[in-house]
Amino acid sequence: MRKKLVVGNWKMNLLRNEGISLVNDILKNISSDITVNIVLAPSFLHLYKVSKMTSDLTYVSTAAQDCSLNSNGSFTGEVSAKMIFSCGAEYVILGHSERRSNFQETSRELRTKTSEAISNNLNVIFCCGESIKQRKDNTYFDWIKSQISEGLFHLSSSDFANIVIAYEPIWAIGTGANANSKQAQEVHEFIRNLIEEEYDKNIADNTSILYGGSCNAANAIELFSEKDVDGGLIGGASLDCNEFISIINSF
Ligand code: PEP
Repeated sequence: MRKKLVVGNWKMNLLRNEGISLVNDILKNISSDITVNIVLAPSFLHLYKVSKMTSDLTYVSTAAQDCSLNSNGSFTGEVSAKMIFSCGAEYVILGHSERRSNFQETSRELRTKTSEAISNNLNVIFCCGESIKQRKDNTYFDWIKSQISEGLFHLSSSDFANIVIAYEPIWAIGTGANANSKQAQEVHEFIRNLIEEEYDKNIADNTSILYGGSCNAANAIELFSEKDVDGGLIGGASLDCNEFISIINSF
């Protein structure tokens, strides 16, 4: 059965003490009988500490926000998938729209990063999603299909079991204008069908597909009630303990 996941993407926010205090608050406020898995994605600098703080809890894990496409060597400033795994993380977020647009990350690079991550025991939260223009032009299905097939469909069936997909329409990220639940469900179902066509129904049914883009305590229940929405990738609202806990409790 596929996992329900709520992922907090802290982006480049929170100093060390602020991150520690947020994790402590979250851990104090989640009930131990929750049925959803929580993933916290702090900056690289805080990853080891947050992983240590959550290591006893099977339902909380950590993610890096990116990894290098190289395994090791003379790549100043880069962080490898192997290093991330050695700090206790179980996941890495790849292909976030901010990385695609601000750092010109290409599908070809993402293909390599995905393989690198999986061969170093990390699960990949692979982001895709269209611009407002593509939504208006009605070209968003083709775009999402190309992002997913170019970034992921080189993987074998067994490797694909390590993939979580996050549908994040760019027009909804950080704007306060979330996709409504019908818009999210339409794309999630499309993605699941793509996976079934490429692999099989069993793999498609077992792939978690998250929604991201201005998801918050006020809209999470409606979004998560859709049959193909298996949780959320949360940016801004993951920095506020009460908001984040409410989102977690929306299942
Ligand atoms: C994100 O950046 O992944 C995201 C979903 O951000 P926000 O929740 O702030 O829209």
